[in-house]
Amino acid sequence: MIECGAGKQDGMNTVWRPNEMTRVRVGVALALLLLVCATARAQEQDFSKVQIKATKVAGNIYMLEGAGGNIAASVGEDGIVIVDDQYAPLAEKIQAALKNLGITDKPVRFVINTHYHGDHTGGNEPFANTGSTVIAQDNVRKRLETGGTAGNGGSLKMEVKPAPKAALPIITFEHDVTVHLNGEDIRALHFPAGHTDGDAIIFFPKANVVHMGDDFVRYGFPFIDVASGGSVQGMIAAMEKVSAQLPGDVKVIPGHGGLSNLDDVRAYTKMLRETSAAVQKGIDEHKTLEQMKQEKILEPWKKWSGEFIDADKFIETLYNSLTGKAGEFVKHN
Ligand SMILES: [Zn+2]
Repeated sequence: MIECGAGKQDGMNTVWRPNEMTRVRVGVALALLLLVCATARAQEQDFSKVQIKATKVAGNIYMLEGAGGNIAASVGEDGIVIVDDQYAPLAEKIQAALKNLGITDKPVRFVINTHYHGDHTGGNEPFANTGSTVIAQDNVRKRLETGGTAGNGGSLKMEVKPAPKAALPIITFEHDVTVHLNGEDIRALHFPAGHTDGDAIIFFPKANVVHMGDDFVRYGFPFIDVASGGSVQGMIAAMEKVSAQLPGDVKVIPGHGGLSNLDDVRAYTKMLRETSAAVQKGIDEHKTLEQMKQEKILEPWKKWSGEFIDADKFIETLYNSLTGKAGEFVKHN
């Protein structure tokens, strides 16, 4: 079991307490394991060596990478809108990287959160304190406010502390919201019960860019936070809907990992569909979770097995998701 409580991660020390090299690199596994422990753990991590790399994606949209989830930024004459904000200790570096683009001295006016996890919302408080308005789906605010337990409904379990008031989104939406700035109609659209129950995918139609949040990631099998109302079914539905609507040459910013395209999204969606079907078959044949792990039923997809979510953790995730066992779902009115 993975817990956020200090000093209890026996067997996990190599991940939680990386050597200096790993720390500099800020390995994906570390960053991801930190995700919901972020508020508590961020203070303990050394962010001093993290550099923020800004890459032009298209038009006036940039992708910023540092530690935690990818940031999308619309930078133009009206100011700056960012999607996600990584960790609080990185806020000043993110501000500096945006300024260094040399496009505008205007501030970050809006921050849009793709979901509530701390590696995407950790900077909410410092950005709000310097004048940004944070926008998110209703359930992001609820989960930030209350805290709770995140995880795959099984062995992956992380306690999330309530966020400080200043970190809470002050504008929330149920279905979608559009920010009209920099000649762009930046649209956040909610997709229910995917990575969590508060996910939004953010579209920049003029620049032909999309930020997928953690519904689409590049670190292998995805983390699906079934304990926070996520489900593989919702994730597949979101990916299918989005893929069908987007232009073929759209630039895709994943929640984690490098800039991607629609083919990458399709390959990922195919893997989600096939692995779900494999676990569903096991369920239909009355196999237990342990049996499915022992039989290594996801072996054909082993290239997706990663440091953070290995095949066993993903079988567990799919099993819990498909049997509806894990959810403390936040209901939508
Ligand atoms: Zn996440």
